[in-house]
Amino acid sequence: MKIVVLKFGGTSVGTINKIKKVAEIIASYKKKNYKVIVVSSAMSGVTNELIKKSFEISKNFSASEHDVLVSSGEQMACSLIAGRLIHRGFKSRSWLSWQIPILTKGAHKNSRINQINKNKIIKYLKEGGIPIITGFQGISDENRITTIGRGGSDASAIMIAKFFKAQRCIIYTDVEGVYTTDPNKLKKAKKLKIISYEEMLEMASLGAKVMQPVSIQDARLNRIDIEVKSSFTKKSGTLITKRSNIISNKIITGITSTQNDSKVSLIGVRDKPGVAASIFKPLSKNLINVDMVVQNISANGKETDLTFTIKTEDLNKTKKIIKSNKNIKFRKLLLKKDVSKISVIGVGMITTPGVTFRMFQSLASKKINIQVISTSEIKISVLIDKRNTKKALMALHKEFHLDNRNRK
Ligand code: ADP
Ligand code: ASP
Ligand code: MG
Repeated sequence: MKIVVLKFGGTSVGTINKIKKVAEIIASYKKKNYKVIVVSSAMSGVTNELIKKSFEISKNFSASEHDVLVSSGEQMACSLIAGRLIHRGFKSRSWLSWQIPILTKGAHKNSRINQINKNKIIKYLKEGGIPIITGFQGISDENRITTIGRGGSDASAIMIAKFFKAQRCIIYTDVEGVYTTDPNKLKKAKKLKIISYEEMLEMASLGAKVMQPVSIQDARLNRIDIEVKSSFTKKSGTLITKRSNIISNKIITGITSTQNDSKVSLIGVRDKPGVAASIFKPLSKNLINVDMVVQNISANGKETDLTFTIKTEDLNKTKKIIKSNKNIKFRKLLLKKDVSKISVIGVGMITTPGVTFRMFQSLASKKINIQVISTSEIKISVLIDKRNTKKALMALHKEFHLDNRNRK
């Protein structure tokens, strides 16, 4: 069976007119004799609205009810798409995850898809139907509705492509593909023709919202090629694939920035073995994700400063936990909201020395101060003042010759 999975993001189904356009895209694949499986997200803004409502009901809204509530956005979008296809004379219907079922493991709000029952959908495809499947949701072992993390429809599409052995998996969104950096932040961003799973995973984890990180992990594990393209134009998009399919690697493939990071500094911490563990243990217990960490070498061997970053939404909780932590002593606690993590990513840096130097020099020439640094084999990240984000993106984009790469 020649199956194609088409995933439409919230921006692609954001209005009735856009949904009508999406139905035409779906019809065009049907006409090319594909068996088409559609996965849709909620209309843009709907998931956020639902989350807002839950907060208005309770600051501690139940996680299982959260999943029932927020997954309803996808139900609405899928029925509208199916309704339009029926109107255009196609056989189509919406499929909610529990009707298939799509099974998940893990905690509410953050489950992972681990099994999809194929029978009903295969039968429906053989009858000529176009199934419109809700992204973002599944059901747990206890038969409760689950969701798989923000932006999770991407992962739904990848797992559906895996279980149904699809020939193609296409992610339709509001930009033409994956760019060297967010095209809505930097006009000079260039569309990439091809990118490896590893680079895309780093970019997604470091702020490139165009793909959800978990979905790239799933795609890499299952060797599923992903095409990312626009639902508004017919231009070619970006292929996300394995590294060996990419002939020429640039030193840097992409640059990312983050939006909601905050910096926490503990000044004058009593320097003794285990002090960092005493600080981070209660944070991790409270599910606060600590990202970049730097500890200064203590000058007198008695006191040190420790700095780390967290998501801004966790700032108040972090402050409370640190202030009530009886296992640590420090002189001052500094909290800073407006910071951004800028990262350069590229497999080419493994074999090319001097990337760190070029990054630091380029930021220094724009008088941008680096507050924290972290690196991995294929990325370098620095923490800077948020107000300098655009300036830093521009400088680094130019430094690594991404401005003048051919637009393909
Ligand atoms: P969808 O509604 O289709 O899921 P998202 O809003 O989740 O769309 O992702 C698309 C957005 O990702 C784009 O509008 C763009 O602003 C942002 N983005 C961030 N970094 C990149 C990048 N490197 N390439 C393309 N888009 C990016
Ligand atoms: N609607 C969900 C969200 O906004 C899932 C998705 O967009 O992929 O997070
Ligand atoms: Mg998305």
